[in-house]
Amino acid sequence: MSLNFVPPPTQKIDSEIASSLGVELYVLRLDLMHPWVNGNKWYKLKYNLAEAKEKGYTKLLTFGGAYSNHIFATAAAGKLLGFTTIGVIRGEETLPLNSTLSFALQQDMQLVYVDRQTYRNKHSSELHADLKKRFGEVFIIPEGGSNLNGVRGCLEIVTAAMQVFDTVCVACGTATTLAGIALALNPKQRVLGFPILKNGGFLAQDIDNLMQNYLATGLPAPYSSPAPWELICDYHFGGYAKVKDDLLLFSQQFTQTHGIPLDQVYTAKMFYGVMDLLNQGYFSIGDRLLLIHTGGLQGNTILDFKF
Ligand SMILES: *Cc1c(COP(=O)(O)O)cnc(C)c1O
Repeated sequence: MSLNFVPPPTQKIDSEIASSLGVELYVLRLDLMHPWVNGNKWYKLKYNLAEAKEKGYTKLLTFGGAYSNHIFATAAAGKLLGFTTIGVIRGEETLPLNSTLSFALQQDMQLVYVDRQTYRNKHSSELHADLKKRFGEVFIIPEGGSNLNGVRGCLEIVTAAMQVFDTVCVACGTATTLAGIALALNPKQRVLGFPILKNGGFLAQDIDNLMQNYLATGLPAPYSSPAPWELICDYHFGGYAKVKDDLLLFSQQFTQTHGIPLDQVYTAKMFYGVMDLLNQGYFSIGDRLLLIHTGGLQGNTILDFKF
C-alpha cells in the first residue's frame, strides 16, 4: 500500500535574530510530500488504512468539520488506494460547497451531514452501530486519525537524521502527532507542543493516556518512555480557526521572507509562538530547533469565510 511520496525535506530558516542568539532553526516540510495526501494527516492515516486493508474492509468512514484536513486527506488517500470513503461532516450542508468538501466529492467521498449534537457522539459505539447499519461494513477511523494507529504513524515522522536537533516544535489539535514524535525521539531531545485550542493544557492528560496506551499495547517504539515534552498554551489566538491581524501579518511576512507557506489554523500559530519565544530569549545558545510543518495548506481558503 503505497503512494508516490517525496521524502520531506529539512530546510534551514535564515533568521537574523536566531543567528544573533546562537540558535539554529530548521523546518521539516511534511507539506511537500504529496500534492493532496500530506502533512501529519498521512502519518495518522497510514496504519489505519493498513489495518482496514488487512481486515478486508473496502469502505472507510470518518469524521470531520467542513474544512477538515483529515477529511481532505482521507478522501484523496482512499481514492488513490482503492477504498470507498464516507465522510461524516459536522453541521448542515452549506452550498456552494467550500473547496475542502468539493475536493472530497471529486474524490468520490460520500458526504453525510450530522447536526452538532449527534456529532458530539462521534466516539460512541451507538452512533458507530447506527452508521454501520446505514452504510454496511465500514472501517471507522476517528476524527483526525487520532488513535493508536495514528500515534504509530507519527513515530515515523522522526528519522535518524533528526538526532541532531535539541528541540522539536509542533502545532497540536488532539496532540496525537506530538505523542508519536515524543515516543520516537531520544531522551536527550524534547518536544514543544503549541495547542491551537484555547486552554490547551487539558491535552496533557490526553497525551499521557495516548503514550501509556501505546507503550502498553506493545506497538513498535525505540525507547521505553517518551522524550520530555511540554505544552505552550499562549499562542491559540482565540481558539480553533480563529485568527488575529498580527497572526496574519506574521504569516504573510514569514512566507515572503522565507518562501514557506503556512496554514492559518495550525502551523502559523506554532511558528509565531516559536519566533516570539526566540525574541524573549527562551532558547539557549547552541539550541537547534526543528519546526514540523504539518501541512494543512488546503485549508487556507478558510479565511474566505466568517466564523
Ligand atoms: C490536524 C493538524 C494538526 C494537529 O494534529 P494533532 O495530531 O491532532 O495534534 C497540526 N497541523 C496540521 C496542519 C493539521 O492538519
